[in-house]
Amino acid sequence: MSDRKIKLQIKDMTKKYDNGDGVEHINLDVYEGEIVTFLGPSGCGKSTILRTIGGFLDVTSGDITIDGKSIVALPPEKRPTAMVFQSYNLWPHMTIYENLAFGLKLRKIPKKQYDKDIKDMLALVSMSGTEKKYPGQLSGGQQQRIAIARSLLLKPSLLLLDEPFSALDAKIRQQMREELKKIQSDLGITVIFVTHDQEEAMALSHRIVVMNKGKFDQVGTPEEIYDSPQTLHVASFIGEMNFIKQDGKTIAVRPEDLTVLLGSGKGDMDAVVRTTMLMGHYVSMTAQCGENVIKCFVDREISDKLAVGDAISLKIGKHSVFDQ
Ligand code: ADP
Ligand code: MG
Repeated sequence: MSDRKIKLQIKDMTKKYDNGDGVEHINLDVYEGEIVTFLGPSGCGKSTILRTIGGFLDVTSGDITIDGKSIVALPPEKRPTAMVFQSYNLWPHMTIYENLAFGLKLRKIPKKQYDKDIKDMLALVSMSGTEKKYPGQLSGGQQQRIAIARSLLLKPSLLLLDEPFSALDAKIRQQMREELKKIQSDLGITVIFVTHDQEEAMALSHRIVVMNKGKFDQVGTPEEIYDSPQTLHVASFIGEMNFIKQDGKTIAVRPEDLTVLLGSGKGDMDAVVRTTMLMGHYVSMTAQCGENVIKCFVDREISDKLAVGDAISLKIGKHSVFDQ
């Protein structure tokens, strides 16, 4: 790990708005070629951090460096970053070609060079042949691909994406994830991605930063965050989780980490079948266990032997324990 190059460093950064909202004492190293995702509920400060990196907001204190150089005094266009927003921000009266060429012309890149770059980039985002179309003639997913292409043409050292897919349908959103991953690994660029969608974060990221109320709760790989949540907030925000209150502690265990045994007195706790729902190849079951309603995923060969009201016992597999 130590030989990896640090691309972005956020050092004890605080950004406070006049009303007191914002983020405090943020520290993060992002390595070259990584996709790091800020994940958290709306209002937790994800966009605030992204905008301080992109230069659309000044920091209140602390520093941000890219390739070891402080960037906090630079305006957005002087930073080696490019940002893509949720709304695609393509110019409706310009063709796709003109939209893509705009930033390159401003940078005085010769037309001969950027003609080729635009052609290559359209191929990369699977949008070849759309040069003469207008944004309004493309679907939402296609427009967002053009918006990403436009950012990539500026050859940013760091690509910043603020909930870029959240306006798209679920199916297109999944396709876009895969394409972004492919583009990222083809180009080897470093990406900071913002989302409130935990599934999107898990699918895309090398590392996830889980945020809550202006602070970092946990930074880790998707596996670390899913398997070993460090706080109750992380445990409840990522995936499905049961919280079982016992002896002043809270046991957090996922539905797939509970084993259902027929009859009482066989596992870690006794329960009664409350509901069952066929999900396809497995059954999602809830069981009443004292005060607790517990969800478990059960193989169909087990659930076929069970009816509502039956006595069962539950064996707890992988879990985390939190003080209440
Ligand atoms: P997220 O992107 O995670 O939804 P934001 O970074 O947009 O969160 O917002 C973090 C907090 O800062 C919220 O409480 C929000 O209301 C507040 N906030 C965001 N922008 C401004 C602003 N321009 N002025 C004052 N408060 C703001
Ligand atoms: Mg936001």
